[in-house]
Amino acid sequence: MTTTLITGANKGLGFESARRLVAAGHTVYIGARDAERGRRAAEQIGARSVQLDVTDDASVQAAAKTIGADGGLDVLVNNAGIEVRAEDNSIPTAGDTTADEMRTVFDTNVFGVVRVTHAFLPLLQRSAAPVVVNVSSGLASLTGLSSPDSPAHFYQAVAYPSSKTAVNMITVQYAKAFPDMRINAVEPGFTATDLNGRTGTQTVEEGAEIIVRMAQLGPDGPTGGYFDVNGPLPW
Ligand code: NAP
Repeated sequence: MTTTLITGANKGLGFESARRLVAAGHTVYIGARDAERGRRAAEQIGARSVQLDVTDDASVQAAAKTIGADGGLDVLVNNAGIEVRAEDNSIPTAGDTTADEMRTVFDTNVFGVVRVTHAFLPLLQRSAAPVVVNVSSGLASLTGLSSPDSPAHFYQAVAYPSSKTAVNMITVQYAKAFPDMRINAVEPGFTATDLNGRTGTQTVEEGAEIIVRMAQLGPDGPTGGYFDVNGPLPW
């Protein structure tokens, strides 16, 4: 039996990934910062739920203790993420970016990934086939955002893409440190969720595809890579 934790899984891509992995036979924990939202989401799809705020050490430690006591963890999906937008859903420009905005975004998207991974490493190390999926973004790609021909080139904000570039580097470094684990970063594609005011062009079913696929990697699968649904992406 494979046990999987997905952070930020009470809605959006995390919830759809949870639904699909339950259907594939995983025991799935929906990590949610709001325990009640997590409980309701889990109930809909036959998952379990655990209170988990990726910005809060005590919450993450308690979740690791609970899941450890229940029997351990095989797959960790670091999915919780935020993008700071204005009231009218516009994206802050480079000129508007403040250190406070950076800190807020990095606290969830970057430090959250490290906080959760660090707390769950002892459980993953006890698994026969440990897997980590870090939900990155196409906007993480230095190649994409610096090349005028790329569809991502238009994107002006500083905090969100740099946080996801950091997630990619974190993925590479953990993958080198833990060669017995499959640790990859994924780009779901531009998906209609609350994160972008539902302006995304894909459905959550389409967006979750690469998350679900990489969560089910066997020990012979790739590690230390950055993938979308069509294959490896340029860093
Ligand atoms: P979403 O619908 O807004 O879901 C984000 C989830 O993260 C929610 O469950 C939210 O919980 C949770 N979350 C936020 N801060 C948290 C915290 N401190 N602790 C625990 N959970 C927290 O957005 P989404 O589009 O599904 O995003 C999922 C991931 O995909 C993110 O990492 C995002 O960057 C990435 N991504 C999205 C797209 C896209 O086009 N949608 C593209 C590329 C990458 P609450 O309900 O409590 O707020």
